[in-house]
Amino acid sequence: MKRKLLDYLACPSCSSGLALRSVTKEEGTEILSGELRCRSCDESFSIRGGIPRFADLDRIEKDKQETAASFGWSWQQFTQDDQKYDEQFLGWIAPVQPDFFAGKIVLEGGCGKGRHTRRIARWGARDVVAVDLSDAVEVAFAATRDVENAHIIQSDIYHLPLQRVFDYAFSVGVLHHLPDPRAGFKSLVSKIKPGGFASAWIYGAENNRWIVGLVNPFRKHVTSRMSPGLLYHLSKIPAAAIYAATKLVYGPLNRNGSSIAKHLFYNDYFKAISDFGWREQHTIVFDHLVAPTAFYISRAEFEDWWREIGATRVVIGWHNRNSWCGFGKMPDRQLSD
Ligand SMILES: [Zn+2]
Repeated sequence: MKRKLLDYLACPSCSSGLALRSVTKEEGTEILSGELRCRSCDESFSIRGGIPRFADLDRIEKDKQETAASFGWSWQQFTQDDQKYDEQFLGWIAPVQPDFFAGKIVLEGGCGKGRHTRRIARWGARDVVAVDLSDAVEVAFAATRDVENAHIIQSDIYHLPLQRVFDYAFSVGVLHHLPDPRAGFKSLVSKIKPGGFASAWIYGAENNRWIVGLVNPFRKHVTSRMSPGLLYHLSKIPAAAIYAATKLVYGPLNRNGSSIAKHLFYNDYFKAISDFGWREQHTIVFDHLVAPTAFYISRAEFEDWWREIGATRVVIGWHNRNSWCGFGKMPDRQLSD
């Protein structure tokens, strides 16, 4: 961790500031190992492999642990990066554009391998603090250790070891995998300072009845219980079917402006991924099958989340007609917790 991160950290138990108690290994600006200690309650947290560790995996409920373990494995396997991700990321956080980040202190709830973290740092954020519960933090750390304004923390989203100092917090593709997505959202936005902004992207209930009815039971009872290594290979079968359909049917028909295209099953989504290569499509299928927990959230419920946090200027977009992306401004005065 870089020393600058201390400006943003707070004890997850009592919210007091944290101090660096010891440094046992340092390389350039990175503290690779050492210990953080709360200034009030004396709780301590280790820094290992350059990452401050706030997640006591023994204390975290089993379902969260399993989600973290399966995605951690996935993120370490699938490490491709691509320019297309710029566009994809901006789709999830719409209407936010790259220039929005200039000078802002940003919190990322669920960073996986740090793909977005790097982008935001490059887009001029003052600092971006990226949190993940899973082992993917190791990949995220390696991907961002040379980036001066990027910081990686291993933590549970429900007990963020952070102060309420962020200009913007966002979470893409993570909240719906939590046991209580709404509570995760509220915890994330509780770290935004008054008048700051938030974005969230979640799976939608609408238009996903086939996933909820057909894929979900299979995911819950079969695929999420397999070893990720086996599922990695087995998931190539449905991925191959989707790959063939998007390359041979959805892509060409949509590019030619064929009137048949809009009648195709799940066209908006398959059109959106028809440009993706094999590994990217395989990643998507694998991620859908590996997660032990996945919620599909209706627009009405998502609107409730924003109402409950008192957000204004809320924009909710229907992304690829199968998911919701929301953006809003936090109240100028802090609501009581
Ligand atoms: Zn404390």
